[in-house]
Amino acid sequence: MGDAAHVMPPTGAFGGNSGIHDAHNLAWKLAMVARGHADPSLLDSYDMERGPVIEATLAQALARLQKWFDDPSKRLPPPVAIVEDYDVVFGQRYTAGIVARESTPDDHPFQKSAELSGRPGTRLPHFAVGRAGQRISSLDLCDRDLLLLCADEAWCQAADAVSQRLRMPLTCHALGANGDLIDLDHRWPSALGVESGGAVLVRPDGFVAWRSSHGVPDRVQVLIETLDGFGFRTQAHEHHR
Ligand SMILES: Cc1cc2nc3c(=O)[nH]c(=O)nc-3n(C[C@H](O)[C@H](O)[C@H](O)COP(=O)(O)OP(=O)(O)OC[C@H]3O[C@@H](n4cnc5c(N)ncnc54)[C@H](O)[C@@H]3O)c2cc1C
Repeated sequence: MGDAAHVMPPTGAFGGNSGIHDAHNLAWKLAMVARGHADPSLLDSYDMERGPVIEATLAQALARLQKWFDDPSKRLPPPVAIVEDYDVVFGQRYTAGIVARESTPDDHPFQKSAELSGRPGTRLPHFAVGRAGQRISSLDLCDRDLLLLCADEAWCQAADAVSQRLRMPLTCHALGANGDLIDLDHRWPSALGVESGGAVLVRPDGFVAWRSSHGVPDRVQVLIETLDGFGFRTQAHEHHR
């Protein structure tokens, strides 16, 4: 990860950012595998996710280099269209890996960072939530475990059941009248592109992995199938024991 894996010209100042994203991406995956919650194949998603984003980031740095400085060698590749700095750093989108594919594919590696919408493969948008009397950011909810955000308690009950069945932690927070969090900005569910009965699964690195736009009859089954598809497995745990 970092400069050991990829160097880029300083134009755009993306080098340090890229290394931090790399570490953020890989650390929780290593922990999940080490804890026996996921098959080692989960680690393949590191390259699948970071590779294309790094290629695109390098292309952005090179395009800036050519715009800002004369290139006497004329050996650089043709510059790509320049994307805003914030979108390169905060609007990164993973299109393959621990990310659900949605029906309207859009494989552009960057999106407007001010318009994050809960789409799988993009960072969870910031919104203010109240927790135990404190005002925190939605991003502060991301910790070492997978996180399910919802408003309907039934999702949290399902998350508990799944957590027990798979013997892996799955944190669930409910926003709303009976939930443990207060939606201070009134941004649920629109900020995350779901309906009020929907749910959003967020990874420890703050990227959305999956979302259900509405409630479903068998939430436990849907969650287990989703986690299983990503490589989180009961079998992996059993195997390690
Ligand atoms: C002048 C300059 C300006 C920059 N400005 C920006 C900026 O504004 N924004 C930005 O995002 N990025 C910027 N960068 C890029 C950024 O600094 C790097 O991309 C980033 O520091 C890479 O982090 P890293 O941890 O991968 O590697 P490094 O920061 O190089 O860390 C590697 C560490 O490993 C140590 N090490 C090496 N070999 C061994 C060994 N055998 N045993 C033990 N330790 C070893 C080194 O001493 C070093 O501490 C800039 C870079 C430069 C040079």
